[in-house]
Amino acid sequence: MKITELHVDLLRVPPTIQLQDAIQSITTWEFVLVTLRTDTGVTARGWSYSLGMGGAAVRELIDVYLRPLLIGADPRNAERIWQRCAAELHAVGNAGVSSLAIAAVDIAVWDAVGKSLELPLYRLWGAYQESTPAYASGLNLHLQGDELAEQLTGYLDKGNTAVKVKIGRDDLEEDVERLATARATVGNKVAVFVDANQKWRAGEAIRRVSALERFAPAWIEEPVLAEDLRGNVHVRSALSTPVALGESLFTRMQFADYIHAGAVDIVQADVARVGGFTEWLKIAHLASSFNLQMAPHYMSELSVHLLCAIENAYILEDIEGGTLFELGLATEPVQIVDGRATPSGRPGHGVVFDESAIERHKAAEAFEVIPTRH
Ligand SMILES: [Mg+2]
Repeated sequence: MKITELHVDLLRVPPTIQLQDAIQSITTWEFVLVTLRTDTGVTARGWSYSLGMGGAAVRELIDVYLRPLLIGADPRNAERIWQRCAAELHAVGNAGVSSLAIAAVDIAVWDAVGKSLELPLYRLWGAYQESTPAYASGLNLHLQGDELAEQLTGYLDKGNTAVKVKIGRDDLEEDVERLATARATVGNKVAVFVDANQKWRAGEAIRRVSALERFAPAWIEEPVLAEDLRGNVHVRSALSTPVALGESLFTRMQFADYIHAGAVDIVQADVARVGGFTEWLKIAHLASSFNLQMAPHYMSELSVHLLCAIENAYILEDIEGGTLFELGLATEPVQIVDGRATPSGRPGHGVVFDESAIERHKAAEAFEVIPTRH
């Protein structure tokens, strides 16, 4: 099987609901979508995403620089393709736009392998389980009081047994009020995760989260700057709440450093940001050897396969307003019933795109960028 064609498109999709956390609002969803065709008649797709910034650079890396490596390659050499792409891009860094570019390619390559063998990806990788726990994740820092309670009630009505609430309001008392509202709304049996999106420095994070621990959050996510390894170690050692992080890390070596240093309880590698399935599975196996669990960031359509393939799955993130189905790009949602998500039974990742939506959201030659920071 050889790759004969590669197309790459940048899609820019407006959010369907307001999405706000402690450091940013989502003004545009960007998806870099790779379509591969093979000499055996397989059409495969992979994608990565950005939160409104950088997608055009990722598209160009693939279209101009990775294309020559891919035409003629056999997708069944997924590991070799990944290493080759990483080696070629090393001089522009092995994280950020490089890993987002490699991810879109790697995901399409694995989709081609799954389709050629007529196997869903989780089955190809060993199928530890047929479904995985999932949680409803709200980018909801702008909601307070009754509005927050209403959102969380909606999540429970859909059968969710775990939810995420953003924290990091400037006034600590408002975060305390948020958690009080959340706990009063969902009761004591539903897990409440909290996410500060890197808002604080270590001392402040410890002070703030300590004030919330009486509401029994099930994890504190990104309490400090993701790059601050020592700060995360300090926070984790000072709190009784487990620390979740990893959505802002990009390589397996970074994860090795954080895990070995004792900076993390729950590993949140993002399949796009780490360069695709190939690197994500290595991170999951690394975490397994430290008896840690995976709770991947976003990308539920793909993460559901990963979580069903491994023995150390914790939970899938289902971001309200962030799924390909909600954004109109996919023809059906990930199946989530009573808080458990099931991968598509179709070969590969099984995501079916709406071709007319792809056409509609292709980025114009020049487009207006809306800043994400406030
Ligand atoms: Mg987060």
